[in-house]
Amino acid sequence: MSRVALVTGGSRGIGAAISMALKEAGYTVAANYAGNDEAAAKFTAETGIKTYKWSVADYDACAAGIAQVEADLGPIDVLVNNAGITRDAPFHKMTRDQWKEVMDTNLSGVFNMTHPLWNGMRERKFGRIVNISSINGQKGQFGQANYSAAKAGDIGFTKALAQEGARAGITVNVICPGYIATEMVMAVPEKVRESIIATIPVGRLGSPEDIARCVVFLASDDAGFITGSTITANGGQYLT
Ligand code: NDP
Repeated sequence: MSRVALVTGGSRGIGAAISMALKEAGYTVAANYAGNDEAAAKFTAETGIKTYKWSVADYDACAAGIAQVEADLGPIDVLVNNAGITRDAPFHKMTRDQWKEVMDTNLSGVFNMTHPLWNGMRERKFGRIVNISSINGQKGQFGQANYSAAKAGDIGFTKALAQEGARAGITVNVICPGYIATEMVMAVPEKVRESIIATIPVGRLGSPEDIARCVVFLASDDAGFITGSTITANGGQYLT
């Protein structure tokens, strides 16, 4: 029987590439999303991957959503915490709502999704958790005090949980993507994009598939000795 993987924010952008790569690798995949029904329906029609709507910022909704996925597909072996948002503003203009929304989704969302799954993985003595952080959680970014703090929090969470999961056969790792050619990045004016690319030693933006391939490896049996690790996937733009 194939392993079951749940990808949050799995119907668009990097998450969609992760969902598809896991499916390609033989997993039964569920893709969660927040509100974009149209994109989710299109994704399911094109890939056959089931989509599930709830907000990772809501603990009860996560617990109920996870229970539904497990009822439909079986126990979840692989969780990819990919859902994320930005609410950028220089700190002197940042509102409490901008801070809270980003914290609730990008940091508490990772707790909300992992906590209801944790005991099941411990009992089954197997689990793979892959968190998607960001280069900006490693280096900080002007206008992103909220996002940088939440994404740095994801790295600390990963390292702590890796220690707790190790004896139970659960690995917990985090990937920090650099600039990835998603709709958001491709929408910036070409001149700005060129100036970004000039700061990336490999001379190109990353692709969603660059990140998806890291996830597939970390989810595999071959990666069983890797836990608590921060995978930097940024074309050499920031070296830790
Ligand atoms: P997108 O904006 O393209 O997609 C975000 C996905 O997350 C969507 O599926 C969206 O659902 C979902 N989502 C947002 N909020 C919630 C929520 N509260 N509950 C459930 N799902 C939610 O993002 P990207 O693909 O660009 O980014 C994916 C991850 O990678 C994020 O964590 C981001 O921070 C990180 N990242 C991205 C980089 C980049 O260059 N793009 C660089 C570094 C890190 P819906 O479709 O319903 O809106």
